[in-house]
Amino acid sequence: MTPEKITGIVLSSQNIGETDRRIVLLTRERGKISAFARGAVKPRNPLVSATRPFTYGEFFLYVGRDSYTVTGADVKNHFDGITKDLEVYYYASYLSEIADYNTRENLDGSEVLLLLYQSLRALEKKTIGNELVRYIYEWRMMALNGEVPNVFGCARCGKASGDDVVLIHFNGNEHGMICDGCATGEERKHVLHRSTIYTLQYILATPLKELYSFRVTDEVLEEIRQITDDYLKKTRPHKFNSLEFIEMGTLF
Ligand SMILES: [Zn+2]
Repeated sequence: MTPEKITGIVLSSQNIGETDRRIVLLTRERGKISAFARGAVKPRNPLVSATRPFTYGEFFLYVGRDSYTVTGADVKNHFDGITKDLEVYYYASYLSEIADYNTRENLDGSEVLLLLYQSLRALEKKTIGNELVRYIYEWRMMALNGEVPNVFGCARCGKASGDDVVLIHFNGNEHGMICDGCATGEERKHVLHRSTIYTLQYILATPLKELYSFRVTDEVLEEIRQITDDYLKKTRPHKFNSLEFIEMGTLF
C-alpha cells in the first residue's frame, strides 16, 4: 500500500500516551481529517515538528477504512514566528479553531485552507495588527460559508449602495446595512463612518493575496469590532477556547 500525498495544515495536535500523537489536519483533498502519527513524540523523529499546530505542507498518509496514519511529511512552512509571540499564538489558535468548526471530512477544504494559510502568514509577518487580521478572516469565513451580512446594499429595501442609496447603519437582526432612507430614529443615532462600510466592502471584494496589506484607523477598527462581535454572538453560538484568552487581553 502506498501512502497518499495530501496538502494541509495541522489545526491541532494531541499526545497519546508517551510516544504517539493524534492530529487534526485541514486538507485540500479530503477536508478536515483526524490522523494518527506513531512515534511523533519521540526525540529525533521527524514527525515531532511536522505534527505541531500550524505546520503547513504535504503529508503522506495511509488511508484505512476509518482512520488515517501519518507516515511522513514534506513541511513547506512551520510558521515558527507564530509560536514565538504569545498574542500571535492565541490569534493563530483562534483562527485554527474557527477553521476546525467550519469544516468537515470529505468536503473540499481548499478555500478555507487558503484563507487560513494567508491569515497565518499575515499574523506571522505582522504587517497589519492581529485584530484586523482576525476580522478580515471572520468576514471572509462568513462569505465562504454563504452566511455573510449584506454590506453592498440595504438589507431592508434591497437597493444597492450608490449615489442615491447611502448606507449608514448595521442591523445584525436583518443581516446587513441599512440605508439613509430606511433607517429609523434609533438607528440614526448609530451612524457608521463611511470608511467602516468601505472597509467591509473591500474585505469581501479583494482577492485574498492582496488583502492583508491595508490599515484602518482606531475608530474604524472599533466599529468593525462592535459590528462583528455582536453579529457573531447572535449567529454563531459556539464557545472558542482561544477566544477567551484573546478577550482577557490583559495577558498581552
Ligand atoms: Zn433601504
